[in-house]
Amino acid sequence: MSALFNTYARRPIELVEGQGTIVKDQNGKEYLDFTSGIAVLSLGHAHPELIKALHDQSKKVWHTSYLFQISGQEKLAESLIKDNHFSYAFFCNSGAEANEAAIKLARKHTGKHHIITFQQSFHGRTFGGMSATGQDKIQKGFGPLVEKFTYLPFNDVDALKAAVDNSVAAIMLEVIQGEGGVNVITDEFAKAIQDICSNSDILLIIDEVQTGIGRTGTRFAYEQTPLKPNIVTMAKGLGGGFPIGGILGTAELHDTFGPGSHGTTFGGNPLGVAVSQKVIEIIFQDEFLQEVQKKSAYFVEKLEAAFPEEQYKVKGKGLLLGLEIDNEVAPFIGKLEEAGLLVCGAGPKVIRLLPPLTVSYEEIDKAVEILKNTIK
Ligand SMILES: *Cc1c(COP(=O)(O)O)cnc(C)c1O
Repeated sequence: MSALFNTYARRPIELVEGQGTIVKDQNGKEYLDFTSGIAVLSLGHAHPELIKALHDQSKKVWHTSYLFQISGQEKLAESLIKDNHFSYAFFCNSGAEANEAAIKLARKHTGKHHIITFQQSFHGRTFGGMSATGQDKIQKGFGPLVEKFTYLPFNDVDALKAAVDNSVAAIMLEVIQGEGGVNVITDEFAKAIQDICSNSDILLIIDEVQTGIGRTGTRFAYEQTPLKPNIVTMAKGLGGGFPIGGILGTAELHDTFGPGSHGTTFGGNPLGVAVSQKVIEIIFQDEFLQEVQKKSAYFVEKLEAAFPEEQYKVKGKGLLLGLEIDNEVAPFIGKLEEAGLLVCGAGPKVIRLLPPLTVSYEEIDKAVEILKNTIK
């Protein structure tokens, strides 16, 4: 019996220790961790520089709240808006909260309510995030939802053109739908969205909670598309394992959030921003990101060589990859775990592969070997 609400179908192991990509469970069994805590541990387990950043800050102040200046937030914001078209950041604690901030900002800025999102999207479990999410199973039993979200088919240009009118405040999307099956946006669809947003007052919100902070081989995944968002939302990889979320916004949004309009007690606390600063310093280096791209190309090549048959499909970008199989993935996830490889699912038929961005080529080889032996 557990004293916890039964909100998760947890696996029966506990991971008690880790180093890089390797984790150990309570019985000392070792695994390759290709979940990274669901795309969170961007630099793997127990990264020495993150431990140091957390430890150093923990001896100064842990928390002071939004009543006072937090120079670590200023510094982190500057690092995140360097070399892109964003001008401002706001920090919170999670992906859902980042999306709440984005939705509130878009509504207040435009004075409109209607937000277009997409089927199979995932934007979090709060009322705003859940209402934005285009999946019945996430919403069932919790209504009435926040009004004025429309869920269009992803990558369907005609449906988009037919749905857009001047009631629309924003279009909100993931450029790779992570939870929804590792579905990558097409160039054609991205161009159509950007055309609409460039030629109207419709804001573009990109949910980079899963795809951001180097996960797809660039700082943000939108950089590999023609999209130029007004707002991006971040969380997961941003703190490398320490809970922190945030949004970045363009200059014209600045006056929409004035004092008292939006906030959070814990958001961007000194511990979180100290760790995140180090994460960003490491990941936002050209050499680091190029290495992620190389590892991705290597991983994709190995996967395609191991699964050349038609019923398999390798999807995704960077180190957010999916292996689509012609079967329910749930039983395979358990078998892979027994064989020493931890992975996530994404929709019913996709195995989602999310190693730390620091994964080695040898670890990729081992993972592909286990996938091949277990699935075939
Ligand atoms: C995980 C995720 C969220 C929700 O983040 P939480 O930190 O769990 O609230 C939102 N959007 C996307 C794309 C995600 O992958």
